[in-house]
Amino acid sequence: MLKVFLKCPSCRRDYEIETGIFSCLDSRPREEHTLRRMLPSGPEVSDGIQTSWAAGSRQTFDVLRHSISAHRLLGHDRYHRVLERVAEQLLRLEDRDFRVTPLTEEPALASALGRTGRLWVKDETGNVTGSHKGRHLMATLLYLEALRKLKGESIKKVLAIYSCGNAALGAAAVARAGGYELHAFVPEDVDPAVAAMLVERGTVVEKIPRSGTGEGDPCYLAFQEALNQNGWLPFACAGNDNWSNIEGGATLGWEMMMQLGDRCERIDSVVIQVGGGALARSIAQAFEEALQLGFINALPRIHVCQPEGGFPFVRAYLLVLGEIACRSGRSFDLSYDQGADPVVQLQRTVAFARARPDQIQEAAAFVQRSFDSPLVQAVLDDMAGKPGHFMWPWDGSAPHSLAHGILDDLTYDWYHLLRAVLRSGGRTEILTEDTIRSAYEKSQHHTGIPVCPTGASGLAGLIQLQASGAIDRGESVGLFFTGFDRSKAE
Ligand SMILES: [Zn+2]
Repeated sequence: MLKVFLKCPSCRRDYEIETGIFSCLDSRPREEHTLRRMLPSGPEVSDGIQTSWAAGSRQTFDVLRHSISAHRLLGHDRYHRVLERVAEQLLRLEDRDFRVTPLTEEPALASALGRTGRLWVKDETGNVTGSHKGRHLMATLLYLEALRKLKGESIKKVLAIYSCGNAALGAAAVARAGGYELHAFVPEDVDPAVAAMLVERGTVVEKIPRSGTGEGDPCYLAFQEALNQNGWLPFACAGNDNWSNIEGGATLGWEMMMQLGDRCERIDSVVIQVGGGALARSIAQAFEEALQLGFINALPRIHVCQPEGGFPFVRAYLLVLGEIACRSGRSFDLSYDQGADPVVQLQRTVAFARARPDQIQEAAAFVQRSFDSPLVQAVLDDMAGKPGHFMWPWDGSAPHSLAHGILDDLTYDWYHLLRAVLRSGGRTEILTEDTIRSAYEKSQHHTGIPVCPTGASGLAGLIQLQASGAIDRGESVGLFFTGFDRSKAE
């Protein structure tokens, strides 16, 4: 059987999944060591996915088991015993388990946007705890259980997560179903309804006060300290500390591809909202793996968006494009001084992004055409070797947005995501609050899906990308409505 392994982009070291690590052992602070799980080439995984999809199961972690490391480690029978036990607990405690979520064509929404191309929406609002986050952590739970079985351990280690809401909730549901103790590091102003739901699921809620910007998320720092001091395991929905959550999140992209395949449809572009980056990175990875395994002939363009109240990923994208433009002799009128007042630098970045879509498009098209060239690859090497030149914690004004679920200080999963955006010819977009509000209203009005402002913000990205001409009205586009709107719940 061909090996699944974990690859580090900085030290180029490969690890076997049997090692039970969650992040690179040689990780150093000023380098990018986020592991990526690599599937073997060859027909084994693709045949497995095709066959199990055709056989009709619509339980996510059954039908896509060939992409899941725990299945690889345990083999079919033992994996299914673990999966069934957790699924039973989820059904009993949460009244649902992980099933393939609906993918619907939304002609009314498309026509409200003046689109002629098909518009597809993947609806995660009915998933476990009302968002996509649980499926990320389900892969981690299965991995933990696989390691425990292989080592013959009876003790379940304590888990930790940092989050402002949905990720902690998804983690709480999955940890409870698996019989694990979970500590959630959350902001002290966490939504009381979310805190109550966490406590109801047996999670220990650790409230952390907010500090200034520039040093990173205090919840993240507290989470890190707990891992180091207590030996707890990272049950985080971010790939830098926990590669395995990306494998779980990738099931979302896989489901979309298989559902499109059933209808003989394809998409030209996806637009994905980005906070910590795990969602978009997971979907991008699913598409890249599907290309590698022959499910699709070309990547869709992978576009991402962030609110103007906090956009560290868009800044990194523009800095990388600027570097490539400079080395290839193209005009790119963005000069960013890391030593100057960040508020001013960020304002200038927004102004540039709005004023020069032509320069951005020209550089993005060049990168897509020349992705494998030494020039582009040298800049990608710099992203891994000197990540601080491109990505650092948000240092603008205190982050704020109606889409508050994607205001992470740092886009933890920026590296692999940015590669995929560049490779696919995708673009990034800084969202105005007006567009976020309009997308939220339109999404509910035209689709009836009870999606929250954060979960609908990919639509805001589509609205702006269409207005700037980066996405054509006739293209087929996929969106991910990722969070249930609790403000409208009874
Ligand atoms: Zn490494």
